[in-house]
Amino acid sequence: MMVWLRKCGDCGKYTLNRDKCPSCGGVVHVPHPAKFSPDDKYAKYRRVLKEERCNVS
Ligand SMILES: [Zn+2]
Repeated sequence: MMVWLRKCGDCGKYTLNRDKCPSCGGVVHVPHPAKFSPDDKYAKYRRVLKEERCNVS
């Protein structure tokens, strides 16, 4: 199981919350560069779906 640990930019606390810090509400970010980004994976899927839709019509 992959756990994405985030770090709050305001108070510096580590959290599993992906949106904002649970203690101060600050913006959280991944403290280390990720080799694999789930966002990129979904972007690729969206691109493929778009191409397929163009070929159909
Ligand atoms: Zn915080």
